Amino acid sequence: MYRKRNWTRFCRLMVLAAAVLLVAGTWAQGHELLIHFLDVGQGDSILIQTPAGANILVDAGDTKAGKQVVTPYLKRLGIKSLDMVVITHPHFDHIGGLIPVLETFPVGQVLADGQIHTSRTYENLLILIDQKGIPFRLARAGNKLEIPGLDEFLVLSPQEPLLKGLNNNSVVLALTYGKTRVLLTGDIEAEAELRILEGDLPIEANILKVAHHGSRTSSTLAFLEAVGPEAAVISAGADNNYGHPHSETLANLKAAGSRVFQTSLVGTIIVVSDGCSYRVVIDD
Ligand SMILES: [Zn+2]
Repeated sequence: MYRKRNWTRFCRLMVLAAAVLLVAGTWAQGHELLIHFLDVGQGDSILIQTPAGANILVDAGDTKAGKQVVTPYLKRLGIKSLDMVVITHPHFDHIGGLIPVLETFPVGQVLADGQIHTSRTYENLLILIDQKGIPFRLARAGNKLEIPGLDEFLVLSPQEPLLKGLNNNSVVLALTYGKTRVLLTGDIEAEAELRILEGDLPIEANILKVAHHGSRTSSTLAFLEAVGPEAAVISAGADNNYGHPHSETLANLKAAGSRVFQTSLVGTIIVVSDGCSYRVVIDD
């Protein structure tokens, strides 16, 4: 079983080991958390690989991206199965690609918002999950899941009663590995941000997946200042029809002191953490 560490002590020891033996880099390999923000055009798809070998996929872009980007990417990494798939909310740019993914890889469980939506794609996805007998779990604020290799996997949203609009009830996750904390926000908008701010769950994070592709309807300055991200990732398509990311969002991120990385500008973005520090890698 994966044992949780005293991270402050561990990180001090790692610095010492690096200084004395210069072996920390070699040792760290295989003990890293990787978060891949895949370049799926206008949409979201995030792969989490924990240091204990668990693979979790959060959304998979639209159907075309699922076939042409996400499935080949997972295969290229040698992934044979997914421990968990997270459906943040039922919009096409998040779930379309999950159908080819579920047709290709065995999945241990699905964690989802569970909203009602009658699009053909969403219905087909739910039918596929049912046909494959994949355990389906609702995500609600305060849920903590045990994920091998992570110190914490916490659901921050949605919360009952649900808000109006599919976006606002997106699954929001906070992952902790040592001193690295990552916040994944789906497509929540200002209403959900306010509700999370008013709740008593911890929202500070080093790394933020910016909500709703950088739309101005999200990323209020109050929310960004409370999260305090050093690095922010925006997943959006180049020259998309919505004008994402909006200039107001970029201004708020700048005001909050965050460095911004955009899939539309640099492609797939990978955050690598050894629990003590992290780095942002561009996949080319
Ligand atoms: Zn979206």
